[in-house]
Amino acid sequence: MSVQPQRPHAAVVFLCLLACGLAIPDPRQREALIQLEAFMQTGGQMVLTDAEQRLDTLLLKIKQEETAREHFPPAMHFFRARDLIRTSPIFSLLQKMPKGGALHVHDFSMVDAEWLVKNVTYRPHCYMCWTDSQSIRFIFSSQQPKPLPRCSSWALLENLRAKTINTTDLDDSIMRNLTLFTDQDPEATYPSQDVVWDKFEQIFLALWGLVTYAPVFRDYFYQGLTQFYTDNVMYLELRALLPEVYELDGSTHDRAWTLKAYQDITRQFTAEHQDFFGARIIVTIHRGVNASVMTEAVKEAMKLKKDFPDFMAGFDMVGREDRGRPLWYFREALSLPAEKGVSLPFFFHAGETDLEGTEVDQNLLDALLLNTSRIGHGFALLHHPVAKDLSRKRGVAVEVCPISNQVLKLVKDLRNHPAAALMSENHPVVISSDDPALFGTSGLSYDFYEAFVGFGGIKSHVGSLKQLAMNSIRYSSLTAQQQEKAMDEWQRRWNKFVSENHF
Ligand SMILES: [Zn+2]
Repeated sequence: MSVQPQRPHAAVVFLCLLACGLAIPDPRQREALIQLEAFMQTGGQMVLTDAEQRLDTLLLKIKQEETAREHFPPAMHFFRARDLIRTSPIFSLLQKMPKGGALHVHDFSMVDAEWLVKNVTYRPHCYMCWTDSQSIRFIFSSQQPKPLPRCSSWALLENLRAKTINTTDLDDSIMRNLTLFTDQDPEATYPSQDVVWDKFEQIFLALWGLVTYAPVFRDYFYQGLTQFYTDNVMYLELRALLPEVYELDGSTHDRAWTLKAYQDITRQFTAEHQDFFGARIIVTIHRGVNASVMTEAVKEAMKLKKDFPDFMAGFDMVGREDRGRPLWYFREALSLPAEKGVSLPFFFHAGETDLEGTEVDQNLLDALLLNTSRIGHGFALLHHPVAKDLSRKRGVAVEVCPISNQVLKLVKDLRNHPAAALMSENHPVVISSDDPALFGTSGLSYDFYEAFVGFGGIKSHVGSLKQLAMNSIRYSSLTAQQQEKAMDEWQRRWNKFVSENHF
């Protein structure tokens, strides 16, 4: 048996509105309004089975207990909240829950820093140097590498570890350079957006030499897929810069080679994990480039899309939106595919800002003008009613990354995240993790926790979770036929999850 949520009768609501202010409100009318809001939220129209309702009862009970705790994780900085979240029974349920797809994740922040230090930096021929801005750089090389500007001379890590008394300290200090996560006070460590973004960019430069070394590149992506798969994510859309990957002798491969390597590893991983649906690549370029570089990048992306039509999903640009050039600056380059009648779907980051009214703040409308397929972050969407309306009407989903927005200082208390309002009216949203390794998370479960407990409070329920997971397939770049197949597989896993956890 299942219970079909009923849209409250319009006449009841209308009468209620007429009656408001005339006398003591009628409890039935009040109930009708409450039901109307419940119906409007993400998952509010979901039909729940008996087993799902039993799981919901359990979830509500543990959520009430969690909300009553002295420290409420979504109200805290994630770095302080992480240990609390790890002990949460809701979190362990969310880890087991089949979450569908991760649609907003970046290439070099899939795998935790510990794996990089313990695995990658222990490989032979790994050199490290210290920059004059207190960061580090790496390179694998068969011979002593040429010195880098503004960096100490290269030290072979193998020799360095042999000479170091306490290698744990050395490893810890390397690790601190590969993630934003810190045990120190996060507010003091990162007092402003500028400070946290500067460190963010330094980390990418530090990672670069490690992850663009061909053998590591392949292992890293495989490990990244493993971490998402382990977190019960069945599909991934990865934003990837497609760097020129290098070999030990210093020779490099072109970008098509890199895309092909992603494809090969995805095929291998999917063959070895039958219930994993696969991955697709959104090719990215840094938004700091000029118009002519962008034109070349778009032309190259059009060619790659033609050569890898099923594996490449589309195109986007990365880097701090507030500091980069706005979409409008690149309008000519970004109009090329439409002009030439070539398919190159866009998945633009837009509205990852709190600088209302600036050029960058127009990115949301411009992304929609340029026919974006989804919106990355859309943090500023509530400030743009027209963009919000268009996004809803066209089914252009917003990729919400709660922990990223908090760590990068757009919002402090996740109960106040704009997506809480979007979810209260079932705006098309998906939950993703952006740069999990940099934020000290993995997979999607931490971000699902913040969305479920923080955005929704007590009112979000098992239907909300189900809707979010289904959205991640519905708004993916997969074809209608692939979506149907992925949805069937997800449903099978969901039913199993519900039957094992409703008690
Ligand atoms: Zn992003």
